[in-house]
Amino acid sequence: MKDDSRKAQGTVRSAPVLVPMPAERPYTYAVPDGMHVVPGSIVRVPLGPREVAGIVWDCDAGDVDPKKLKPISQLFDCPPIDRETRRFVDWISTYTLAAPGMVARMLLRAPAAFDPEPWTEGLQRTEAVPDRMTAARARVLEASRDGFAWTRSGLAHAAGVSSTVIDGLRDQGVFETVMIPPRPVVAEPDTSYAQPELSPDQQAVADMLRAAVEKGGAAVTLVDGVTGSGKTEVYFEAVASALDKGRQVLILLPEIALTHAFLERFQDRFGAKPAEWHSDLPPRMREKVWRQVAEGSVRVVAGARSALFLPFQELGLIVVDEEHDPAYKQEDRVSYNARDMAVVRGRIGGFPVVLASATPSIDSRVNADQGRYARAMLPARFAEAALPHLQTIDMRRAPPARGGFLSPILISQIRRTLERGEQSLLFLNRRGYAPLTLCRVCGHRFQCPDCSSWLVEHRFRGQLVCHHCGHHEKRPDACPECGTFDHLVACGPGVERVAEEVVGHFPDARTIVLSSDLLGGVRRLRLELDAIANGDADIVIGTQLVAKGHNFPDMTLVGIVDADLGLANGDPRAAERTFQLLSQVTGRAGRTGKKSLGLLQTFQPDHPVMRAIVSGNAEAFYQREIAEREKSGLPPFGRLAGIIVSAATRAEAESHARAIRRAAPATADIQMLGPAEAPLALLAGRHRFRLLVHGGRRSDMQSYIKAVLSDGPKVRGSVRVAVDIDPQSFL
Ligand code: ADP
Ligand code: ZN
Repeated sequence: MKDDSRKAQGTVRSAPVLVPMPAERPYTYAVPDGMHVVPGSIVRVPLGPREVAGIVWDCDAGDVDPKKLKPISQLFDCPPIDRETRRFVDWISTYTLAAPGMVARMLLRAPAAFDPEPWTEGLQRTEAVPDRMTAARARVLEASRDGFAWTRSGLAHAAGVSSTVIDGLRDQGVFETVMIPPRPVVAEPDTSYAQPELSPDQQAVADMLRAAVEKGGAAVTLVDGVTGSGKTEVYFEAVASALDKGRQVLILLPEIALTHAFLERFQDRFGAKPAEWHSDLPPRMREKVWRQVAEGSVRVVAGARSALFLPFQELGLIVVDEEHDPAYKQEDRVSYNARDMAVVRGRIGGFPVVLASATPSIDSRVNADQGRYARAMLPARFAEAALPHLQTIDMRRAPPARGGFLSPILISQIRRTLERGEQSLLFLNRRGYAPLTLCRVCGHRFQCPDCSSWLVEHRFRGQLVCHHCGHHEKRPDACPECGTFDHLVACGPGVERVAEEVVGHFPDARTIVLSSDLLGGVRRLRLELDAIANGDADIVIGTQLVAKGHNFPDMTLVGIVDADLGLANGDPRAAERTFQLLSQVTGRAGRTGKKSLGLLQTFQPDHPVMRAIVSGNAEAFYQREIAEREKSGLPPFGRLAGIIVSAATRAEAESHARAIRRAAPATADIQMLGPAEAPLALLAGRHRFRLLVHGGRRSDMQSYIKAVLSDGPKVRGSVRVAVDIDPQSFL
């Protein structure tokens, strides 16, 4: 910002404002007389024909002709975005190569919250007495005896009378009108509300985390403990320390909308719920949470990855639960990994970060092994809870009946579990009925018109659906190619089809299918999850939605329908992901001390992943996987970035990708590979090519890619280029 003294020389005061646009730098605006902005102020500015909200930034505004500057139109009555958050935005922009405005845009997602929350009109008892008493009036006086201010409708409701009764009393002066401040979305947590008795192992870890918080300063601790070992219980102690220090806390969860149970556990410990933040939050609630985080009345947020961009003023601890979870990676517009960004945020803010997982990512494990992160272990399940006994089912030796997908071994275990009155979970990470539909007569396969993927049959809905772009069509009776009726066949299983098979075997069992296709959305899913936890289901067939953080006390059998599913793709993290997902799913069993069993149907029982899971020797798996990564220079021993070129035609995409490659110099430390047609060659009507940049651990990938893209071909026509630093997906 230019200071006021320059005004004397005829210059207007000006300020750089970051607007939510893919621009490389803030735009400069004039600051009207009498307006006082500081770095971080949220303002409204004209941008072309529109007005947008932006943030006053603190870089040099650059030389602009003051006469050409447009003035800031409004300064919002809102606490400024703090310096740490602004540096965080700059950092992410530099790291991900996304325009700073696009990162700042994530901070500005609740526009209605930039203005203070309105106060509501309320009624408060006075000393006056009504001229005449009726039963209804007596009830109103009784209800309002506490002396608090009530809203008119709230009081009417509480007293069970119509609002006209209230109006009558007000007119007589029995109530006076007062203004009620906005209510906090959550009560303040009480750190001494219910302190748990920790086991000695847990206590040691809790002490370590508390010490890190009390000492302050950036430090990352990886809490590595099997499911049920009490990781949550233990990091709550770190949360308590941070709150006692007067700091705000952020707890990141991969699937917050569904982990209702988490909020309740938090309440059991702290006497109040944390504020929630995720995409399913109603807009009014989002605005309240945003505003109250900015004002500091919300002390703890439990949120999805986007909660990193809430306007905290006193953030002092971030916990990343299930830190290995791929859901932390955002690939839309700004592609970032929330777990890694949480670590960065801690470094910028000078506060500790806790990463928790039963199956840490290889990246975090290596960081711990090499001493960059502290590692805290919780080796045993809490109390009597035993880990499930795990076994593979060799599908070559015990194949399912014709047309089925469940081995007789698994079926007989489901039967036994039913007989004991306990629950079974069948896990298959495939939504719908069947992943492919074809015509038995001509061989026609149903494919998405806009993507290179097969259409997935959803039998309940009677549709064929593309899982990449959402395209859907009615499942026809006749083949569109050869016209033959009734000869379409479903190939392979989805959860709906496994459910059909289960119902065939166990017609009297209560069966629930759980996937994101469930009608009724998140609300319905929560109800179903509660029903399962209450024992209102015998057999649950689910996708990865059931893997995340739920506690099902009576679940004593977990069957993995296709343990090989995740291993088949060309992703360098395929083995790691499969190991994590399968460990997590089998960890759903036996959380209460009952004897439990996990069965993995596989055609490769000798695969290192299967062996590691079954033997319980996770360490052997980690050592082997880490050694492999090191040998091939893959993350975290080397760095990767994806460049995805897409266009309306295949030729345009390919030639642009090739031109980028030609512009890429050979360096000792960084290579560019490709282009190759992407595995998802067509996505939502756009043709795609991928380049892969592979660099050494310390290579400056960002500068390299930036240089290549600016020296390379001009982006023209329908071409779009997206950069994905540290890609998690290679589709
Ligand atoms: P994790 O997060 O490692 O999966 P949790 O923290 O969810 O483990 O603990 C598993 C279960 O054991 C939960 O029901 C939790 O309430 C209980 N538990 C863990 N530690 C304790 C403790 N010290 N006192 C009481 N209950 C505990
Ligand atoms: Zn599609």
